[in-house]
Amino acid sequence: MQSLSGKRGLIMGVANERSIAWGIAKAMSEAGAELAFSYQGEAFGKRLAPLAETVGSDFMVDVDVTDDASLDAAFDKLKERWDTIDFVVHAIAFADKNELTGRFKDTSRENFKNSLDISAYSFIEVARRAHPMMKDNGGTMLTLTYQGSNRVTPYYNVMGVAKAALEATTRYLANDLGPDGIRVNAISPGPMKTLAGAAIGGARKTFRQTEANSPMRSNATLEAVGGTAVYLASEAGAYTTGEIIRVDGGYHVLGMPQPENL
Ligand code: NAD
Repeated sequence: MQSLSGKRGLIMGVANERSIAWGIAKAMSEAGAELAFSYQGEAFGKRLAPLAETVGSDFMVDVDVTDDASLDAAFDKLKERWDTIDFVVHAIAFADKNELTGRFKDTSRENFKNSLDISAYSFIEVARRAHPMMKDNGGTMLTLTYQGSNRVTPYYNVMGVAKAALEATTRYLANDLGPDGIRVNAISPGPMKTLAGAAIGGARKTFRQTEANSPMRSNATLEAVGGTAVYLASEAGAYTTGEIIRVDGGYHVLGMPQPENL
């Protein structure tokens, strides 16, 4: 049920070996999938190349999701390699670091637009291009979100609004693409030590707080997020769509910190 043998897909958003996209890539490869990767710019490409090699992939393409031409070129290149794909993983987000601290009311128009463009709207651009490669055989689209979408988290600020938009996008895409056998889901991990995670003000405190208080007294691992992606892309997840799946040790159920931490 949880095999990805014979399946192939595109992983977008590996910056380094700590990236959530990399945790997902490793797990999907171990489950038997063939992988293609997109990266943002030459420097990230250099870091990705040796990682991609370890999972037997030689397909890497440079994509800036704010640039339609680069998205078109990437999917054209992908189509030259493979007629169809079975999954796409969108693990991409960005907001100006200067606004991932301080007060939410100070969010600028420019950063608001840019953050929502990269972190939410780009999933639609990716879905539209992946759709023709999936519509005859079905497929899975995955994105990554965080509970700052519906619960206020210190300094998450505009990214919380972007994740709320991304989660709504997930539901609308799931409904739109369901008739073509395409499932669309979001994985919502707790805080993880990645480049993007470190950009958020007070990241270390948030990490420690969730570790000390989550029902499992632990933050999620890359392996756990990867395993969830495998489930969603495999037959085991065949009837799951439009969902936000939490992989956060249960932190989202809390109304208060644990008694020992009060
Ligand atoms: P990361 O820094 O490893 O990955 C972020 C990726 O986004 C990078 O590969 C970067 O190149 C890419 N990116 C940013 N702007 C782009 C653009 N214009 N075009 C193409 N790519 C672009 O960090 P991560 O934590 O692995 O982030 C992956 C996803 O997981 C993000 O959506 C993030 O919000 C989400 N997430 C992270 C955490 C966490 O605590 N780290 C928790 C929940 C959800």
